[in-house]
Amino acid sequence: MSFPSPGAGAGGRPHIAVVGAGAFGGWTALALLARGARVTLLDAWGAGNSRSSSGGETRVIRAIYGPDRLYVDWVARAFPRWLELQARSGVPIYQPTGALWICRGADGYARSSLPLLAAAGLPASELSLAEAGRRFPQIRFDDVTSVFFEERAGSLAARRACRAVAAEVVKAGGELREVAALPGPLESGAMGPLPLAGGSTLAADGYVFACGPWLGELFPALLGERLRPTRQDVFFFGPPPGAGGRFGERALPVWIELGERIFYGIPGNDHRGFKLADDTRGEPWDPTQGERLPAPAALDRARRYLAHRFPELAGAPVVETRVCQYENSPDGHLLADRHPEASNVWLAGCGSGHGFKLAPALGEHLAAQILDRQAPLPELSFSRFDHPLFAPRTQFESA
Ligand SMILES: Cc1cc2nc3c(=O)[nH]c(=O)nc-3n(C[C@H](O)[C@H](O)[C@H](O)COP(=O)(O)OP(=O)(O)OC[C@H]3O[C@@H](n4cnc5c(N)ncnc54)[C@H](O)[C@@H]3O)c2cc1C
Repeated sequence: MSFPSPGAGAGGRPHIAVVGAGAFGGWTALALLARGARVTLLDAWGAGNSRSSSGGETRVIRAIYGPDRLYVDWVARAFPRWLELQARSGVPIYQPTGALWICRGADGYARSSLPLLAAAGLPASELSLAEAGRRFPQIRFDDVTSVFFEERAGSLAARRACRAVAAEVVKAGGELREVAALPGPLESGAMGPLPLAGGSTLAADGYVFACGPWLGELFPALLGERLRPTRQDVFFFGPPPGAGGRFGERALPVWIELGERIFYGIPGNDHRGFKLADDTRGEPWDPTQGERLPAPAALDRARRYLAHRFPELAGAPVVETRVCQYENSPDGHLLADRHPEASNVWLAGCGSGHGFKLAPALGEHLAAQILDRQAPLPELSFSRFDHPLFAPRTQFESA
């Protein structure tokens, strides 16, 4: 470990305060502890709370990522960490269903990933439409261009995993506190102690802010214009009596449809229903005050899609709903970098609708930046925003 801060805490162990116990903060805290740091993990409302982006029931883990080698490699790196967490905590987290990619029109996003997945040891292949129809008779394929199946993919029990990570942080000797923190004052290129709700302060050698959709409010000059939280409606439909098994995780994989809109879904969810979501970015969203009631127009779109692609579920009732938010960067990439004006502050966020699965790899990467002074990855850095070729995305593929 090399943390050259002259203030490095007792016994030379640097003390790092991590603000935000969602997927990014929790895994960063665990990675820092594994490397010998002292860690205080803070969250305003608790790990995996309903407002947080990590606070949903389930999240897809898949490695098809178009030509983005970084994320394919990070998924390969994250998989063993999720499985270790499950084994250590005894909490069921990974549901290995595989992932089905249903392409209407261009299929370059999925196809271009296949060689990268093969190189990373993650099997995936194209299925003929006839084979897809035989394997998954619940799904209609007659208007589809091509279908791909990733074998090592499935879903992660999201809020349960955040709580398991927080418990592991405590087991590893970290301190967990439920309190809101603000950035401390910036002086001579470093941040001072964090003001905490209730009036006290917290001093540490280094500070990580992993505050999901709140990062823009906390750092308005840096991220106010760049991080855009959008409303996302998620629906859980109840299969007809006796048909639950046909729409559960033993019968169906996680699926993602790439067409004019991107829809995706997760079967099972601990019998909470057949999850369906539209990946299209919704309206701007206030993660603190937003009332999480489903929008009738979004429900209408979801029902029409469901009836078309899963005809046996036409007319299925909604049994649960969630309104969550994506915290989008302009290019859809994550952020994991040091604060440009504070040498003891790092920011992790901009999950952009696809960050959850990657959190163990992001945590290890950020811990290496903090403790070894490793350089940030250019595509996840602040400096990319100022690059002359920086290109905001118009079309996102997430989940
Ligand atoms: C509907 C939906 C579906 C998604 N699907 C997928 C998917 O299938 N696969 C995938 O990989 N990803 C998916 N994502 C994206 C993924 O969930 C997010 O990228 C990821 O959870 C972001 O984690 P985070 O730790 O950055 O943020 P969060 O989970 O929001 O964590 C931030 C934490 O910071 C705390 N906090 C904020 N401000 C303060 C403060 N001032 N003081 C103290 N604490 C504070 C909050 O309480 C919160 O717990 C999805 C997201 C949504 C919303």
